Amino acid sequence: MISRMTLDTRLTGLKGIGPAVAAKFAVLGLRTVADLIDNYPRRYDDYSQLSSISKLKPGSVTIRAIITNAKGSYARRGMHITNAVAEDDSGSVRLIWFNQPYRAAAIKPDQEYYISGNFELSHQRLSIMNPTVELVSDFPVNTARIVPIYRETKGLTSRQIRAALEQAMPAIRALPDTLPVWLIKKQKLMSRAEALEMMHFPRDGAALERARDRLGFEEVFVLTLAALRNKYEMQLEQAPAVPFLESVAREFVSHLPFKLTDAQRATTWQIFQDIGKPQPMNRLVEGDVGSGKTVVAAMAAVMVLHHNHQVALMAPTELLARQHAETIQRLLTPLGYGDKIGLLVGGMKTAQKQAARDHIASGDIRFIVGTHALIQDSVDMTRLELVIIDEQHRFGVGQRGALQSKAGHMPHVLSLTATPIPRSLALTLYGELDISILGDKPAGRSEIITKIVSPNSRAQLYTEVEAELAAGRQMFVVCPLISESALAFAKDMPGLKTQPVSAEEMYERLSKKDFKHRRVGLLHGKMKPADKNDIMQQFVERKLDILVSTTVIEVGVDVPNASIMLIEGAERFGLAQIHQLRGRVGRGVDQGYCYLMTTESIAPSRRLRALERSTDGFKLAELDLELRGPGAIYGTLQHGDLDLRVASLTDSILIAKARAAAQEFIDRDEDLLQYKHLKTQVQHLSAVTNLN
Ligand code: ADP
Ligand code: MG
Repeated sequence: MISRMTLDTRLTGLKGIGPAVAAKFAVLGLRTVADLIDNYPRRYDDYSQLSSISKLKPGSVTIRAIITNAKGSYARRGMHITNAVAEDDSGSVRLIWFNQPYRAAAIKPDQEYYISGNFELSHQRLSIMNPTVELVSDFPVNTARIVPIYRETKGLTSRQIRAALEQAMPAIRALPDTLPVWLIKKQKLMSRAEALEMMHFPRDGAALERARDRLGFEEVFVLTLAALRNKYEMQLEQAPAVPFLESVAREFVSHLPFKLTDAQRATTWQIFQDIGKPQPMNRLVEGDVGSGKTVVAAMAAVMVLHHNHQVALMAPTELLARQHAETIQRLLTPLGYGDKIGLLVGGMKTAQKQAARDHIASGDIRFIVGTHALIQDSVDMTRLELVIIDEQHRFGVGQRGALQSKAGHMPHVLSLTATPIPRSLALTLYGELDISILGDKPAGRSEIITKIVSPNSRAQLYTEVEAELAAGRQMFVVCPLISESALAFAKDMPGLKTQPVSAEEMYERLSKKDFKHRRVGLLHGKMKPADKNDIMQQFVERKLDILVSTTVIEVGVDVPNASIMLIEGAERFGLAQIHQLRGRVGRGVDQGYCYLMTTESIAPSRRLRALERSTDGFKLAELDLELRGPGAIYGTLQHGDLDLRVASLTDSILIAKARAAAQEFIDRDEDLLQYKHLKTQVQHLSAVTNLN
């Protein structure tokens, strides 16, 4: 049976796995030998150091001994206890198991065991508690080594997973390599087979390190390769050049009520150069909230409109699309494009939508604003020359194809993001993009005052807030959850009972109690688009004083009169996320305040304190990446983009090596078709579509 084992072998083909156990494996998504191999340990217990019993010190230990006097008994309250004695040449030690009644019978006399567990005080006596035992062999799996610990499920332990993996070892050792031989040699990488064996059954710490290096290298290599191939493919496409006309740029600027910042000028210039070429632009503008990205995009659009082409601007939500439409209207009306701007969003009436589509198709509407769903809409945009994408960092091949068929060719694409993406992350993920950074903010903006508040000071905070509200200002209150029902999934969150963290509960409390004399509104992602718009509109028109919401307001929403941002359960949010949230206030002339309410009255974390000190989005993102890993930022990126399981994005050496290797792969004109596994992965990444 074993000899015929392949990666596709179902787990039921392994010894000890019948249908019932296989069903447990399936709960973890493990069905075949390949799944098993691909399921990396969550962590490891280091039982590799053997001690003699006389030298045992409290902590996690491993001994090699025979076991005698194993005896089970029931203690009070039905608790079962097994006692035994382990002996080696140097002495003896007590072993204790709780609620494992089968233990005593399973132990064979006169056999040597590896015994691993915690050596600690129990009833005034040092014993090894709940040890794992395993007959001594050349290849111990559960003891006397660095032992892998897997994600488990009810009725399926790491021990069973290890037993299955041990049987899969021939398949692991026979794994072909995925990277070119020259690359493995040059980078002195472990073979793939060895790396995977070492992930599951590390020989020692150094081997585990090298295994991670190898697998992490491959992850970044593949990501970069996909990005670079995207870039080169894009450069082969044709796009009509949009020549720069100074007079057009001058006129646009002359109607602005402010002076462009240096960064805005530099970025616009880069964009004009890009669209002046007969290849499609693919540029990402990264700029903190309030850095003035919309103006930059509008200026690029004007150049395109001037040459009689169409422009589409797509936003992640209807709310934002509507707001953008208004801004664009304001910016472009003085240039005579006031009646050429149209909105197309799902919340519009069918007849309205149809009218919009007709006007777009006829060319009466030349600047279309909508949600990201615009490219899936049946709208006909044959003169589309520039696509502006707000808060969408990357454009999958799928969407590119959709755009291409819409316009009949590849339009220029300009992406805008307020998510500060650290350089290492941007280079790995978005290697195909040219990046402009709006690093400075328009002059005259006051810094937002950020303060961590503990629940004990809630009453005092409300007094301060009331003063602002009385002066006519408005407040956002952002909660990490929509409703209490969501709590069922969040039972282990600390302090949940004491502090409200759901928007619905908070809304109840504020509107019926703490601020019942104020007008309070509720906004969250599960509401109908029309209702969301309605609430937002009320807030914009100052018909509400307080808006309680979830993070739906995170991106882009502009309410200059709102001066207070209160974030509940602040420790649950990523730094970058909170930074974006606080960018919602202080957009007008008034001083902005951001209060970070913690769930418990404990000393605030280093992360939250960083927010008090710094308003630099990029610095905060770097810190988030360092402290919490890519997940912190990943939360605000798209799914599927960042499937890094081994590589750390803070490992700049690994990233630099893998990037250089990907470039070399392309420079050598290597044929991806020769590397089946790489090809599948690269294609998978390129096909990732980011529209939801
Ligand atoms: P974001 O980068 O967050 O999208 P916006 O484009 O919405 O920022 O700009 C934020 C605000 O700053 C807007 O009200 C905009 O009119 C204003 N603004 C943009 N550029 C400048 C500038 N150079 N000087 C002063 N105000 C500006
Ligand atoms: Mg914006």
